[in-house]
Amino acid sequence: MPDAQPVAPNLDDYDDACRRFTWAQARTALRGLPDGGLNMAYEAVGRHAAGARATQVALRFLRRDGTVHDLTYAALAVEIARFAGVLTSLGVSPGSAVFVLADRVPELYIAALGTLWHGGVFAPLFSAFGPEPIASRLTLGEGRVLVTTPAYYRAKVQPMRAALPSLTQVLLIGDAAEIAALPDTKDLRALLAAAPTDTAVASTTADTLALLHFTSGTTGRPKGAMHVHGAVVAHAATGRLVLDLHDDDVFWCTADPGWVTGTSYGIVAPLVCGVTSIIDEGDFDAARWYQVLETQRVTVWYTSPTAIRMLIRAGTALPKARDLRALRFVASVGEPLNADAVVWGVDAFGQPIHDNWWQTETGGIMIANYRAMAVRPGSMGRPLPGIEAAIVHRVASGGVAVETAPGVQGELALRAGWPSMFRGYLHDEARYAACFADGWYLTGDHARRDADGYFWFVGRADDVIKSSGHLIGPFEVESALLAHPAVAEAAVIGVPDPMAGELVKAFVVLKPGETASDAMANTLRGFARTRLGAAVAPKTIAFVAGIPKTRSGKILRRLLKARELGLPEGDLSTLEGPSQ
Ligand code: AMP
Repeated sequence: MPDAQPVAPNLDDYDDACRRFTWAQARTALRGLPDGGLNMAYEAVGRHAAGARATQVALRFLRRDGTVHDLTYAALAVEIARFAGVLTSLGVSPGSAVFVLADRVPELYIAALGTLWHGGVFAPLFSAFGPEPIASRLTLGEGRVLVTTPAYYRAKVQPMRAALPSLTQVLLIGDAAEIAALPDTKDLRALLAAAPTDTAVASTTADTLALLHFTSGTTGRPKGAMHVHGAVVAHAATGRLVLDLHDDDVFWCTADPGWVTGTSYGIVAPLVCGVTSIIDEGDFDAARWYQVLETQRVTVWYTSPTAIRMLIRAGTALPKARDLRALRFVASVGEPLNADAVVWGVDAFGQPIHDNWWQTETGGIMIANYRAMAVRPGSMGRPLPGIEAAIVHRVASGGVAVETAPGVQGELALRAGWPSMFRGYLHDEARYAACFADGWYLTGDHARRDADGYFWFVGRADDVIKSSGHLIGPFEVESALLAHPAVAEAAVIGVPDPMAGELVKAFVVLKPGETASDAMANTLRGFARTRLGAAVAPKTIAFVAGIPKTRSGKILRRLLKARELGLPEGDLSTLEGPSQ
């Protein structure tokens, strides 16, 4: 059993904290800019670099070659000012989107924070994406600047570059000679080395756009969720209240910064809270992960259900062979965390795993199991102080009816107006407006609340797929399959998987004259992987004679899924005739 750590929880009485908490008060924990403004990078790095934490390690990179690279708050501040200086020297105006497509290397973090320092908008791209998701996001976000590596550039961007006219600056991280051989690119390291170190922080305000996170819907192109510098108030508050970050903590968030958790909690929140953040550049490996927890003396660990399921499969002998006494809080997010996994934490780490819930649009954790509160295994926990959550039902008038009875399933809704709430979907006001009714933000998740106020996840209201914690839009996958000359129609659903939560499965109607075979399925899988990347492409392909659709031509993915799982097919009155 790990030693109990003599650290009092930041939130020791949930009900009292809910009574006393105000966002205005939470804002006072931050410094703010001298002109009254607010800048995420200043709160995360600048103020610490100018204060008592200057020489403390801010980011510790565990490199793939086994070496360790530390950046103190002071050193990180210099690098981000340099990056901002690079943007200025390239004529990039504040407000421009800077996209980053990279593994978890120092330059990713420097570019993210440097962009915020400059007053630009940081837009991360998941490095396992293939060329198509990258091009569609760069197009939608009108990306002017892209930071990436020569290998990713060659494989994923160069083939599409002609179709990306807004992309004027490609800054590459890597070998100078290799970069010199790639036309229309620049060497980021050389630019950083030559840049001034004293570029002043941009005078942003709480309402200035800071982050652009792409997320997937069921139909149409990806959605660009826009976040503002003011979100840092929520990052700070949740870092303290949910993740229980204290001054001397060593924090490890395993999420990739290509997704929102890896930005809000892999970059911003731990720095704002002034702790040391571990960044593992390597891929998942159970034995090595336990080694990281032990050797880095990680105190607070934020990971995902998929990773936990993989650790469970690897057995408890591995954690038991390690000295994990430093670890005092383990949290998880991104998918439902089954009750067994929560309890397994007690066996492996001497403490339950604390599930919490949020999504790209909420910008920060909204519902959580807190350190000082009894964990109900299988529940997402209770709303953050300052957040009002409810179960609602949409009503015909376009508004909502708030459910008052406990245990009744409905849509999870949050009272709009918290600091990290998204401020729009880029170029899609109608889609944004459709997320709100009667002052509530409607999350698109189904849940129920028990009599004690704990929320329980039921499922998504839409057809979006969650695979290994990554949100995948079926439309994006269907569109890629349709680009193959043999494919007439395609429909994509998520099917349950014990490890990944869900796996992407495609139903394909072939064109006349094409033959359904294993070879064809392999060809289509390979075709989709090349375009979309392995994380998004379908794992299985089934050939079918027709795709069920509504009379208005919408794919009935719900019906496909019900048939796949042997569940009741529900109301088929809108089903189109021929493709039944
Ligand atoms: P994303 O926007 O990619 O972060 O995905 C957000 C979605 O992931 C939510 O709307 C939920 O469907 C799911 N999700 C996140 N956290 C949890 C959780 N703790 N339990 C169940 N589902 C979750």
